[in-house]
Amino acid sequence: MREDYGRLKTYLLAVLACAIALPIAWELNAPSSCFLLAAMVSSLYGGRGPGYVTILISSILFDFFFLLPRFHFLHSGESFLRLVVFIAAMVLATALIAARRRAEESLRQTQAKLAQATQTATMSQFSASVIHEISQPLSAMVANGQACIRWLAVDPPNIAHAKGAVERIVRDGKDAGEIIKGLRTLFRRSPPKKEPVDLRHIVNEVVSLLRGRVVKEKVMVEVNLPKDLPTVIGDRIQLQQVLMNLVLNAMDSMQTVTDRPKALAIRSTEQEGMVLTEISDQGVGIANFDKVFETFFTTKEDGMGMGLSICKSIIEAHEGRLWGSPGPVAGTVFTFAIPSSTEGAEAE
Ligand code: ADP
Repeated sequence: MREDYGRLKTYLLAVLACAIALPIAWELNAPSSCFLLAAMVSSLYGGRGPGYVTILISSILFDFFFLLPRFHFLHSGESFLRLVVFIAAMVLATALIAARRRAEESLRQTQAKLAQATQTATMSQFSASVIHEISQPLSAMVANGQACIRWLAVDPPNIAHAKGAVERIVRDGKDAGEIIKGLRTLFRRSPPKKEPVDLRHIVNEVVSLLRGRVVKEKVMVEVNLPKDLPTVIGDRIQLQQVLMNLVLNAMDSMQTVTDRPKALAIRSTEQEGMVLTEISDQGVGIANFDKVFETFFTTKEDGMGMGLSICKSIIEAHEGRLWGSPGPVAGTVFTFAIPSSTEGAEAE
């Protein structure tokens, strides 16, 4: 519905552009440039459809008001040739602008795919390394356990050898513990960069990166960012990753929704020295909020179940908090709060 209204507005813009171009063209006696300008504005802001509507209206107006003899539709000879050249120039300009828009759109889609691919690749590499690192001491422990059982089963039991096997189990267990500790540190990541970050830029960047998917899946996106939103101190890339992950999760959760509009809202506000950013969806909702933050918990076929735990650790490293709650009607709201930079300055 909102999308239809948006489309209608672009066609109204096309009609308006012609209505404005006509008196100016009349006054300046410069119909070609004025109507060309109208067609360019319509196709730049509305796309190919509104561009061609402008061409159609402009051609009729040009034909009727400007070709000699005036106030006639049917012309021949030189006037007819002028009309043909006029239409050809307008079609060419509109086609060029449409091609540029297509190129921009495909670039945006490629960037979004790249962002998603990078995220997935990082996750896959990470889990592959976890599996590899942990499986080695675990298989050694199993092998030593089996050896220990064998040494104890002989008659008389070989206590010295069994003791050696148990000692190796303890050593390998400690090794596995160390590896997990190391991974935890990795998980916590290096301390985030400390630079002023405008969350409004990050939100706009993420929305723009995901525009292709938003249009394809017919998701209505509402972004509400006050102009005077204070900056936060943090790591732009990490915060972008958090937002990207929360928005992707929100969109995933609405993929199967058919009985209500797929609506995604991103809002930021400042409250008591914290900048709060809410990502709300109208998706399937969450029954257990503690569970979704657990590492490796996923309900998706190709999910890793690490997104939310990484988001949480990033936000906590920014001295903030991330939490989820049920939406007022349906779906879910994830909120993260980070101290605003003014708060940081006061504290120093
Ligand atoms: P992944 O996306 O790889 O599954 P996450 O840690 O990002 O990993 O999410 C874990 C799980 O939490 C998801 O599989 C999904 O079941 C649930 N979840 C996350 N965000 C939402 C949401 N907005 N709505 C419904 N479920 C969600």
